[in-house]
Amino acid sequence: MDFDFSEQEEALRKQVRGWLEANVPDELRGRSFTATRADREEVRRLRAWQKRMYEAGFVGLDWPPEFGGRGASVLEQIILYEEMARAESPQFVNRGALSMLGPTLMAHGAPAQQTRFLPGILTADELWCQGFSEPNAGSDLANLQTRAVLDGDHFVVNGQKVWTSMAHVADCCFALVRTNPGAPRHRGITFLLIDMTTPGITVRPLRQITGEAEFNEVFFDNVRVPVGNVVGRVDEGWGVAITTLAYERDLLTFIRHISLRSALGRLIALARRSGRASEPVVRQRIAALAIGEQCLRLNGYRSLTKILRGGAPGPEGSTAKLFWSHLDEEVAETASEILGPYSQLLEGAEWAPDEGQWAFYALLARASGIRAGTSEILRNILGERVLGLPKD
Ligand SMILES: Cc1cc2nc3c(=O)[nH]c(=O)nc-3n(C[C@H](O)[C@H](O)[C@H](O)COP(=O)(O)OP(=O)(O)OC[C@H]3O[C@@H](n4cnc5c(N)ncnc54)[C@H](O)[C@@H]3O)c2cc1C
Repeated sequence: MDFDFSEQEEALRKQVRGWLEANVPDELRGRSFTATRADREEVRRLRAWQKRMYEAGFVGLDWPPEFGGRGASVLEQIILYEEMARAESPQFVNRGALSMLGPTLMAHGAPAQQTRFLPGILTADELWCQGFSEPNAGSDLANLQTRAVLDGDHFVVNGQKVWTSMAHVADCCFALVRTNPGAPRHRGITFLLIDMTTPGITVRPLRQITGEAEFNEVFFDNVRVPVGNVVGRVDEGWGVAITTLAYERDLLTFIRHISLRSALGRLIALARRSGRASEPVVRQRIAALAIGEQCLRLNGYRSLTKILRGGAPGPEGSTAKLFWSHLDEEVAETASEILGPYSQLLEGAEWAPDEGQWAFYALLARASGIRAGTSEILRNILGERVLGLPKD
């Protein structure tokens, strides 16, 4: 790859930088690495922020113009993410839909579905949640049991999803359901778009170690979903989901990079402020993290280049996700070591450094090695697909 930016790209960087400097709202600035989407008021603010970025032309930059994007190049998309990190802007609130469902609909959706759903993803007028995991189907996703039975021109859905981030504020859900229990596990699964206001859906919050409830249990009790909401073919949803999951590990990791850079910047500031930046051990740890962050960025360039040149996401997405979660946990741990006992003080405590952001982050980072594929599963994938080791 050529890492020099063209004049046009530098012009975009200048434009984005100027716009973000003038527009990132103070109440959202710098909260990217600890921002969650548990609180409804925070979600409302994040929604408004995505819409403002959309109106300025910065959401879906890399989506083709026929789908509402600007058809920008990989480098231009990277410039946007870099500048969002620099400006300490929050990530997009609808990032799951932007990075997973959008590309999935472009690849597998019917034209009517693309027209109906893609605009709301860009503007955040429709927030999406991902209904994949179930109590007995996490890493082993193909074990999912939520049933959908055809009844006239609707599917009737019954079952339970779990760990569904943002279900309590989402308008819609992209879900996997079993339509043919007699078929082999990976067949007989269908990819369904579900309106969260449909009667029969119950959302129950699950409180996390951070004290917040960003994810939920979702129960489906005779929920009627139009047949027109099937993405791809009935019983062939596994192939559709593979596209979604590959984008989840690949593009989403790149988007999460925004929060990692922001956290690293704050860590360096913290080390300086606390007088620990001159200690050799602290310096070495921070240097190692900064080098890791650069490696993650370069690996991200590589896989994004491949995808946007028409290639499919490959195992480098698994490397990126694995490495990102490791760095995320390391940044949180290093901050805790610098702060000592103060690292445990949460927001509201009198002596909490940086308003308790570090204590919150240390707890939140525990989830990094679980969501979007656990570290063990990613190592299995790399062992099998990259190193050619025997199957798990
Ligand atoms: C913060 C957060 C947000 C999430 N948001 C969503 C969401 O919005 N939508 C959604 O659908 N899901 C979501 N999830 C769920 C997530 O995808 C699952 O937690 C994940 O896939 C792991 O599944 P599980 O929790 O059932 O654990 P399990 O699959 O039961 O795994 C338990 C442990 O066993 C290990 N293990 C399992 N199988 C193997 C194996 N073959 N080899 C070696 N080790 C193995 C795992 O690595 C793990 O350590 C979220 C999770 C988190 C933490």
